[in-house]
Amino acid sequence: MTLSTHTAIGAIIGFSFGNPIVGFILGFISHFLVDMIPHGDSEIADQYKVQKVNVKKILAYMMIDAVTAIILIVTLFETRSADNTAVLGASIAGSVLPDLLVGIYEVTKSKYLLWFNRLHFFFHDYFIIKYHDIKLPYSLLGQFIFIFLVFKTI
Ligand SMILES: [Zn+2]
Repeated sequence: MTLSTHTAIGAIIGFSFGNPIVGFILGFISHFLVDMIPHGDSEIADQYKVQKVNVKKILAYMMIDAVTAIILIVTLFETRSADNTAVLGASIAGSVLPDLLVGIYEVTKSKYLLWFNRLHFFFHDYFIIKYHDIKLPYSLLGQFIFIFLVFKTI
């Protein structure tokens, strides 16, 4: 999923639980479970990592997603988190951390993160391998609607 979707799910967890440690752990676990839903990014990940094509386009996609996630976080903190800032921040941090660790692994190829990268993609590719991925535009539309509904609700 996009970082923006993981941010929205982290926000739901943050508003649902009153403890930042619980929020962080549940946010972290939620990342793997949500990533299991085929979400259309396997082709661009393959283009980026294996084929080394469309690299600038893919980096632009990731930067737009990161900036969108930051805007969502700032909006949340500005409008809805007067008394639960720590829980909200911890839950969102836990929910996006796995992708950040994967990004660090991609840049460094650190042997200390190899196991984590494999764990992440075990979950990420679990159903894609058995079935197939969906088209990215449909996934992005669905995620956009989901984020919109989350922000309308919380
Ligand atoms: Zn992920």
